Parts: sequence; structure tokens; C-alpha cells
Amino acid sequence: MKNIKIGNSSFIKNLNQSSIFRLINDYGPISRKELSEKTGYSAGTISNHVKTLIKEGFVIEKEKGISSGGRRPVFLTINPNKGYIFGVNIEVKKVKIIMFNLKLKVERKQKFTLDKQKGPYEALDDIIDLIKNMMKEKNVTNKDIIGIGFAVPGLVTKDRSVLKFAPNLAWNDVTIRKYVSSKLKIPILVENEANAAALGEKDFNYENKVDMVYVSINEGIGCGLIVNGKLHRGESGNAGEFGHIIIDSESDRVCHCGNIGCWETLASTNYIYDMYRKTTNKNINPSELIQDKLIDDKDILNIFSDVGENIGIGLANIINSLSPKLMIIGGNILKIKKYIDSSIQKSVREKTLSLNYDKVEIKYSKLGELATVYGIAKIIFDENMLVNQ
Ligand SMILES: [Zn+2]
Repeated sequence: MKNIKIGNSSFIKNLNQSSIFRLINDYGPISRKELSEKTGYSAGTISNHVKTLIKEGFVIEKEKGISSGGRRPVFLTINPNKGYIFGVNIEVKKVKIIMFNLKLKVERKQKFTLDKQKGPYEALDDIIDLIKNMMKEKNVTNKDIIGIGFAVPGLVTKDRSVLKFAPNLAWNDVTIRKYVSSKLKIPILVENEANAAALGEKDFNYENKVDMVYVSINEGIGCGLIVNGKLHRGESGNAGEFGHIIIDSESDRVCHCGNIGCWETLASTNYIYDMYRKTTNKNINPSELIQDKLIDDKDILNIFSDVGENIGIGLANIINSLSPKLMIIGGNILKIKKYIDSSIQKSVREKTLSLNYDKVEIKYSKLGELATVYGIAKIIFDENMLVNQ
């Protein structure tokens, strides 16, 4: 599927220069000679394109190594401060905003708790104000920003401009791109949070062509599918809604989608909070989930065991359907992984077809809560910084 461009034009407009820049980004510090070997371009062609990239500030030279006698060899690296990218992760209870440089190193970060009394556009106003402040602190203008990526816990339109439906936030049809770009004049992209996290995890930790499913377990469950190294969005743009596979049709848990016994009603953090309230008549604060004092609480340990088993049932369904090489579990559920891992593993082992079970590895996200923002920043870098063929 061809990506829809989110900006008017990429930062680097020449196709050859874009591919040279990508190589310098991937392999730098790198010499002109090595670039010539990797691209097959002549030394003269490389020299001309590199000259332009240096003149325009995309690439910088640095001396490295010691030569035997003659001149020190000169290596090329991308200029991390030629532009910046914002990754915004809108979660159900809080918002994280990270400003990255072009090497995707964190320059600035901010977070705030979402006020449930406020509507989505008021939350966007708060985000816009923080982004403006971060730009001011860094002394840059909107022309220096490659793009802003919004990761959201819900369905997005195929052109990645509108948040259609985020049930756990109770936000519908929020025209994020139109609203934010009218105020900031910066390219905007909206992506499902599990899709962004899947790409983040793949790009930073795994090989290129892996088939993998990233399962993001928070108040609900979202999944990002990587097929042959690429995000699989499907015809509607919202493939991977495994949170709504029905794992217990006799359950009393009604899902916001209208069905009964959807996976996300029985295996998410909301399930833990609801079951604890039902069993003990007490509320559990989400931040308490990670406190080790809970290991003395038999009620919560039983619920952890149930949620682990239920997570495993859904994972087994996905593994049986898609036979991926990797299943990555991420999201806030990571905070209690040591309490639920054994029941997840047992449930998956019991319920997965052995041929598929033998080929899959189940892992926890290495990037943790940063997977989503890194992923969304990488999407902006790939789609707005470089020329796409
Ligand atoms: Zn559902």
C-alpha cells in the first residue's frame, strides 16, 4: 500500500540525496568511499551530492581515526540539529510529549494528566501550548519541525488525520490534523498507538523482515501487525483489532463495541480494577498495581492469575491465526509482568497448536512505555524527512 504523504514535500527533495542521507543515518560515521561502495555511485557523484547535503546543513563532516602519515580520514554523519520531530502519546489518563532531534535522541519531554472534565480540543490546546514552549526553549521555529505524530488509543481514518473512535477516552471524530495544523503550520499525522509501538519496537530492537504482532495492553487492548517488516493496516486502515475477538461468550462483561466477552474486557487493566472492586469492595489505584506490598494480597494475586490466563487465550488465538515469529507484549500491563508471566506462558502453551507454538517467541517490550513515541517519531522521520518512492 502506498503511504499517503502527510506534508507538502519532504525535507530532502532530491531522491539520490535522500538515499545517501539515509545511508549516512543508518551507517554513519561513514566515509565517501564507503558510500560509493554501498550505492554503486561514482566517487564524483557521491562527492557532489554530499557537498550539497553539507551546504544545506543536513550532513556534517568529522575527523575520525588515525591515518598512517597522511591526512586523517574524514567521516560523514547526519546533523542531528537540522530538524526536530515531536511524538505525542495520548493515553487514557495522561499525555506524553517528546521532542526528538534527527538522530531520534530525546531533546525535551513533557507530560500531563488528562482532565476528564475537558473535551478533546481543550486537551489539544494544552498539547499545542506545551509544544510551543518546548520550541521556544530550544529556540526553533515551525520551519525546523519535520512533523508532529499523534499516537492515540483508538481507530483512525485511513488518511491518518482523524481520530474516529477512542472508547476509553470517550472521544469521537476528533479532527486532530486539521485542528493542530491550523494552529502550528506543521505536518501532522495520527496513528493508532499499538501500530506506532509495533514499529518502534521493530525498528529499535529487531531485524527488518520479521513477522510480528505487538499487543498493547492498557485499559483496552490494541495490536499492531508487522508483516514482512512492514506495518499491515488492512483495507480500513485499522487491521489488528484483536481486542474484540470473543474469548468467553458466556461472560457478563459487556464491551463498548456491543459484544459480550471480548478479549479486552477480560484481559486489560480495566478488568483488574473492576474485579478487585467486585471482590473486595475496594478501589485499586492504577499506581498501586506496581507496589510489591500487593504480593501479600491474595485477592489481587488471584485476579493477576486470571488476567494472565485470559491474556494467554487471546495470544493463542492470534498465534494460531497468523503464526508470527514474535509476539511482543507492551503497555501498562508491563508493570505487573512478574506476577502474570507464568500464567500467560501456561495458557499459551496449552491453547496454541503445537506447530505454531514451536515457531513463536513471546517477549515483553524492550522500549516499554517509550515504544509508542519512538515509533511515531520514526514514522515522521521516514515519511517526511526523506523522499519516498
Ligand atoms: Zn468488543
